Amino acid sequence: MTNSILPTSGDPMGAAIYDYHKNGKADTLVVRSSMFDDDEIPVADLFRSFEDMPFLEQKALELAHGRILDVGAGSGCHSIALMKLGKDVTAIDISPLSVQVMLDRGVHARQVNFYDPAYDEKFDTVLMLMNGTGIIGNLDNIGNFFTRIKAVLNPDGCVLIDSSDLRYLFEEEDGSLMIDLADDYYGQLDYQMQYKGVVGEPFDWLYLDFNTLAYYAEENGFKAELVAEGEHYDYLARLTLA
Ligand code: SAH
Repeated sequence: MTNSILPTSGDPMGAAIYDYHKNGKADTLVVRSSMFDDDEIPVADLFRSFEDMPFLEQKALELAHGRILDVGAGSGCHSIALMKLGKDVTAIDISPLSVQVMLDRGVHARQVNFYDPAYDEKFDTVLMLMNGTGIIGNLDNIGNFFTRIKAVLNPDGCVLIDSSDLRYLFEEEDGSLMIDLADDYYGQLDYQMQYKGVVGEPFDWLYLDFNTLAYYAEENGFKAELVAEGEHYDYLARLTLA
């Protein structure tokens, strides 16, 4: 994980968000991974309203309180929903185009990489949504992740983060798992995105099952609670300082 901001020439998701914001429509945002066939993120979904959000995201927005930090805020959909609920939110993202769109939409947004050690503003709630554990990248970075959480969290603050247990991708019909224990953790994926001619650098994106998240939370001085579970191996967790 670097601490930097994306160059606009390598920011496909930002380009898609920018297009949709300007023109009300966008081309296909393609996601590649060595583990899957090419997939697509519907760009309109990145502009979802509170009513269109999955229940776990709505729950997170309802629980968010005090000074709120929306990490990897994208189009600003969660920040805008929070503002409509009268809440105080700051959004950060490494995508300059996304930040430009958020500012245009009235969001208090800044170009900040969550891993930049110089960023140490303090918040009561840190929101990480749409597979929020993705930003951890890979398990080698998890200690750094908790160090950064400590740097931006008030002592009695909390992190609201969602993810999914990808075990269903490896499950046999009899319920056993086709997982090679010598391999990396099964939720560790590599992604690369493309929008029109804009191709991003490949990056690591981590899906964490709740028990693994809770294990590392405890190792790093945090407590993890399962707030709610979704319908398909997905969940919302709350992290607080132990
Ligand atoms: N939360 C939004 C967007 C999710 S996509 C939503 O739910 O719709 C993930 C976002 O995180 C992207 O906008 C990406 O640019 C941003 N991001 C990735 N790594 C980041 C980092 N280290 N610091 C800040 N933002 C990051």
